[in-house]
Amino acid sequence: SESNAAPVEKRTTVCSHCSVGCSTIASVQNGVWVRQEPDFDSPINLGGYCAKGAALRSHATSEKRIKYPMKLEGGQWRRLSWEQAIDEIGDRMLEIREESGPDSVWFSGSCKANNEASYLQVKLCAFWGSNNRDHSARICHSTTVAGVANTWGYGAMTNSYNDMHNCKSMFFIGSNAAEAHPVAMQHVLRGKENGAKIIVVDPRFTRTAAHANQYIRLRPGTDIPLIWGLLWHIFENGWEDKEFIQQRVFAMDEVRQEVANWTPDKVEDVTGATESELYEAAKTLAENRPGTIVWCMGGTQHHVGNANTRAYSILQLALGNMGKSGGGANIFRGHDNVQGATDIGPLCNTLPAYMGFSDNAWKHWCRVWDVEFEDMRSRFDTYTVDGVHRMNVAGIPVSRVVDGILEDPENLGQRDRIRGIFFQGLSANAVARGPELQNALSKLDLIVVSDPFPTHMVALSERTDGVYLLPTATQFEQAGTVTASNRSLQVREKILDPLYESKTDTEILYLLARKFGFAEDMFKHIEIEDGDKPVWEDILREINKGAWTIGYSGQSPERLKLQLKNKHTFDTTTLKAIGGPCDGETYGLPWPCWGTAEQKHPGTHILWNPSLPVSQGGLPFRARFGTEHEGVNLLAENSWPAESEIQDGHPPVTYGLLRSLGWHEDLTPFEMATIAWVGGEADKPSESVTEDDIARFRTMESDGLDSVAWHTDISGGIQRICLKHEVAPFGNA
Ligand code: SF4
Repeated sequence: SESNAAPVEKRTTVCSHCSVGCSTIASVQNGVWVRQEPDFDSPINLGGYCAKGAALRSHATSEKRIKYPMKLEGGQWRRLSWEQAIDEIGDRMLEIREESGPDSVWFSGSCKANNEASYLQVKLCAFWGSNNRDHSARICHSTTVAGVANTWGYGAMTNSYNDMHNCKSMFFIGSNAAEAHPVAMQHVLRGKENGAKIIVVDPRFTRTAAHANQYIRLRPGTDIPLIWGLLWHIFENGWEDKEFIQQRVFAMDEVRQEVANWTPDKVEDVTGATESELYEAAKTLAENRPGTIVWCMGGTQHHVGNANTRAYSILQLALGNMGKSGGGANIFRGHDNVQGATDIGPLCNTLPAYMGFSDNAWKHWCRVWDVEFEDMRSRFDTYTVDGVHRMNVAGIPVSRVVDGILEDPENLGQRDRIRGIFFQGLSANAVARGPELQNALSKLDLIVVSDPFPTHMVALSERTDGVYLLPTATQFEQAGTVTASNRSLQVREKILDPLYESKTDTEILYLLARKFGFAEDMFKHIEIEDGDKPVWEDILREINKGAWTIGYSGQSPERLKLQLKNKHTFDTTTLKAIGGPCDGETYGLPWPCWGTAEQKHPGTHILWNPSLPVSQGGLPFRARFGTEHEGVNLLAENSWPAESEIQDGHPPVTYGLLRSLGWHEDLTPFEMATIAWVGGEADKPSESVTEDDIARFRTMESDGLDSVAWHTDISGGIQRICLKHEVAPFGNA
């Protein structure tokens, strides 16, 4: 009878099928996931979700899961115990390392892994002694990260889904949100109900286009000429935001010169969009500000994807749409944790928090990990190219892993070719190059697939030996945090214990580290429960400690759990407020969330918002850009203005990064103290700062927008030291 039924427990998880971050309530009875429903209290999905989200339960409980460790031998799959699997895989990996060096094993991470697993993947590779690791963001939004970071700083979405209620116009290019991010579309439609005008640019008439006030068809790959065509009308009619450009934008005159070449007839010739279409669109955008721009992989997955994202950004700068509610760049990511895995996970060219591979960056993370820098250095191969140590060299990206297997290793600066791959949550569709990939897989000595499902990678390999399958828990069988497209961290509670013989990502990484003999060092400050289960809260605390340079410090496990709990106490009035003006909490805690959790920084819902005090994340900015299209290259990628120009440029301020790298000593006391202020540590400026300086900082905070001159002082300092250390200021991926 019902009264005798086991109690039903409700747990909250985050949908794993796209980057919107919808909450789902799972009902669990007797350890069985019996029911799911969208979370009515979530300010993001407000009780709704799409067909993909509705299928979460079947994702976890699918019969097609890998149920136990297996090995392919003589064309037959043979069942193994976990002990056998880890022993055999570990021994083979160690043999390869002995014979060919640590770079001969390539590790994949995944945009589907949570923040804690992504971070441990980086750490495991560091202790293994290689930078040969990457994840699937390489082929989706890495062009956005590079393009946007080089324009105004952080390579991320600047506003949020909820904030789209406040837009007066929305310009979609390379995004079909109605199908790819359906719940985001409900916020778009709320914005439309509020009066926003929608323009959709796409080669296809999509379901998103069906909601547009204006649809413009363009020839595929002609995004930049189309943006130049829009800017041509904007400049021609004086519709640009002159004050904003004068105060905040570097080098718009160069864009103006370039745009002058893109007359309407030339643009129509290249793009197919007519003069009248682009005039109408430009007028709509000019008359309906603030407006946002939305893009997704339709804009990024091009050979000029980086330049596309810069062109989109330039349009927003010309219209003065940045740093305000209803404006910004709403860049829709793909997977559920593509943002977090990029921020602190295994990209082949960065350490966590977008730090490169300089000695100073390594020293920072060695301090966090409590290991000696020299010890870490000794783990890497002694093979060098041009005398550069392997720990300072970027690894092989996803897009070139096939070359790493097939090409002469010397061409890639490698001692030997890639002989073994450990795929944790990445499959063939993220690598592409099908026939070449198939050939490459056949040449490997070892393939390990750690995944809930047997992936395309296994099927494609057509091998008879040397493949292992490790049953891995789905997102719903492991707790941790994920970062949605709007930079917001949310807790994902564990719904079920791992099904079948599955283990979580972090357990598997721990078992490997133990096999390799460095678990004690790698997990020095991370508690291990039940013999092999790293505690996710400890991993997040370590992330808080090291990634504070990009504002991952204020989101402690305790604070995020409290927020998850409190969300369910919202009444409808509060919900309405959250769904309305985006001036308070939306959901999760978006980075930058400066300081410690106790300092209760609210997270930064709108990047570069000059109406907020700097201590609340309202960093004034001054953007720069480079553009390229078919050989046109105004400012080469990653190049920065000459030293004589630096007082005019204003890259974003990253006080923490400079200080943690020890480069702050290159700054003048005033520059250092100003950065300290922006980083939220005004009360702890360096000793050489005078009372006078402190008074200037106080003025700067209250001045808001007018304080840009002071911030220009800072940017000069940052530019100078970055030039000295031969790096772009930060954020390049
Ligand atoms: Fe899941 Fe995205 Fe659909 Fe939300 S919109 S339910 S996150 S797939």
